[in-house]
Amino acid sequence: TLILGIETSCDETSAAVVRGGTEILSNVVSSQIESHKRFGGVVPEIASRHHVEQVTYILEQALEEAEVTLDDVDAIAVTEGPGLVGALLVGVNAAKALAFAKNKPLIGVHHIAGHIYANRLVEELEFPLLSLVVSGGHTELVLMNEHGRYEVIGETRDDAVGEAYDKVARTLGLPYPGGPQIDKLAAEGEASIDLPRAWLEADSYDFSFSGLKSAVINTLHNAKQRGEEPAPADVAASFQASVVEVLVGKTMRAVRERGVERLVMAGGVAANRGLREALTGACEEAGVKLTIPPLALCTDNAAMIAAAGAVMYERGEFAGDRLNGEPGLELER
Ligand code: ATP
Ligand code: MG
Ligand code: FE
Repeated sequence: TLILGIETSCDETSAAVVRGGTEILSNVVSSQIESHKRFGGVVPEIASRHHVEQVTYILEQALEEAEVTLDDVDAIAVTEGPGLVGALLVGVNAAKALAFAKNKPLIGVHHIAGHIYANRLVEELEFPLLSLVVSGGHTELVLMNEHGRYEVIGETRDDAVGEAYDKVARTLGLPYPGGPQIDKLAAEGEASIDLPRAWLEADSYDFSFSGLKSAVINTLHNAKQRGEEPAPADVAASFQASVVEVLVGKTMRAVRERGVERLVMAGGVAANRGLREALTGACEEAGVKLTIPPLALCTDNAAMIAAAGAVMYERGEFAGDRLNGEPGLELER
């Protein structure tokens, strides 16, 4: 099968062609980071306008790089949600227009299913499989017993981990998006500042990051009152140590308690070097097979949407011509 994927849920306009659900023929990503930087975050109106300007060009480029035409494609898979509604609509409408014009089946993909399926572009998935999803809007543990079916066994009760990274970075005066900046700084510092670990109830797989974020802000504030200024690298290292300890600790407990032997990591924060190292080490120790996508497949891209769409194609899960952008779309069905 040849699937054309389209992703416009946030601030990346992307189109890709994937063969057999596993092989990337093209994956064109246009990032808008520069346009949102001076506002310190994604501005929805600006995001939508960029998608409108970019989407046709990106689609043409994806087909050209894959050396296929629209007629060769078996189906068009597009991110249906969650995301910014105005941004989603650009991708959904582009996909519908192409599907209608070429009489091709249309597939509506959940953005987080896409992040998880980025791993299948690296290595075949085996079930039962646990996914640690860490992105700008999500922090979840997702259990899968077969392709295309998802059970969320834990999720954040407040901030997503990427959101916490971006807020702490802003407090330190680092430019948007702050995650990669903190990651870089953390490698140069010492985790010398005592920060809380949000383990929650002993049996919970849920996460919480707003307390940690506030603790960082309070620590900086109190130090300032005393006329001190902790080294930003030490703040970054201490924050990252807390995040990584809880994420890895909960994930490995879920692996043990659910008897899972196969783990994947997904989402933008999976690009974090500290987290990649810690999870890799824990999995080696536990004898668990782990896949982490390369950096370019961790952040938003359309190849992952095409990969998730490919299993929906096999299952005959097609969208009707009423497909719409769903900002609050649920992963479980
Ligand atoms: P969602 O996927 O939940 O809808 P999103 O698509 O906005 O949200 P992604 O694009 O998957 O999120 O990830 C972006 C997030 O990843 C940002 O918060 C960014 O700061 C964070 N991030 C990217 N690289 C790193 C890194 N090396 N360390 C920590 N965080 C990172
Ligand atoms: Mg993004
Ligand atoms: Fe994402």
